[in-house]
Amino acid sequence: MIKIAVVGSAGRMGQTIIESINQNDKVSLGIALDKGDDLNAVLDQFDVLIDFTRPEATLDYLKICQQAEKSIVIGTTGFDDAGLELINNAAKNIPVVFAPNMSVGVNLTLKLLDMAAKVIGEDADIEIVEAHHRYKVDAPSGTALKMGEVVANALGRDLSQCAVYGREGIEEPRDRQTIGFSTIRGGDVVGEHTVSFFMEGERVEITHKASSRMTFANGAVRASSWLEGQSAGLYSMQNVLDL
Ligand code: NAD
Repeated sequence: MIKIAVVGSAGRMGQTIIESINQNDKVSLGIALDKGDDLNAVLDQFDVLIDFTRPEATLDYLKICQQAEKSIVIGTTGFDDAGLELINNAAKNIPVVFAPNMSVGVNLTLKLLDMAAKVIGEDADIEIVEAHHRYKVDAPSGTALKMGEVVANALGRDLSQCAVYGREGIEEPRDRQTIGFSTIRGGDVVGEHTVSFFMEGERVEITHKASSRMTFANGAVRASSWLEGQSAGLYSMQNVLDL
């Protein structure tokens, strides 16, 4: 049976992941750690590590996993380019699943977005609106950015060149080549994303609403099982779900 280490175990996701592991008879909880605990001291107690923490913590755990040749599932969001490069480099030595959203529904939504962008994207103004609970610290969400990346790739655009984050004051009229992002924070919203394709005379909206963190936790646990026997590499939930 695969033994999992959960870091950030006191957090909202950490707690839900432990619940998901306890409900799953194919995996077991090897060790649960949070701030102050030493991962190096418990390397013999797990096969795969699941991390939903903060970027700086993730990068420390990643380094230890790389040295100890352990697989890792990274759910943390909000990495800068330097952090993303470290993840890419680590994946040359160990198997890594890295996904800003581990829910099956969101990953299906990414597939639908790719399809929609290819059919109507060139003729549409594309806007992404996301809402999350008041405690979320990074904006826009990693999922919104991933959705933007999928749409941009389908259209042969570079998201870093065409993204527009929030709007205020007097601006030029909207450029069709851009992809707009808007963020709302409040209450206990687990995560809602809508991508709108505004055309002349009609609008297509693709929405995903998460009502429980269990959807992300189950995805992360599924990714841990999937990692068994995989060779080193950077994998997404699209790989895990074979989408
Ligand atoms: P949270 O604040 O409830 O929990 C974070 C946990 O990480 C806490 O227990 C905290 O003590 C711990 N932590 C923070 N810094 C640490 C450090 N330096 N060393 C060790 N532990 C540290 O947050 P959350 O809502 O559980 O979200 C955690 C992360 O997961 C966020 O980046 C969030 O965006 C992301 N997330 C991803 C998905 C997904 O499907 N990929 C879904 C939900 C949340």
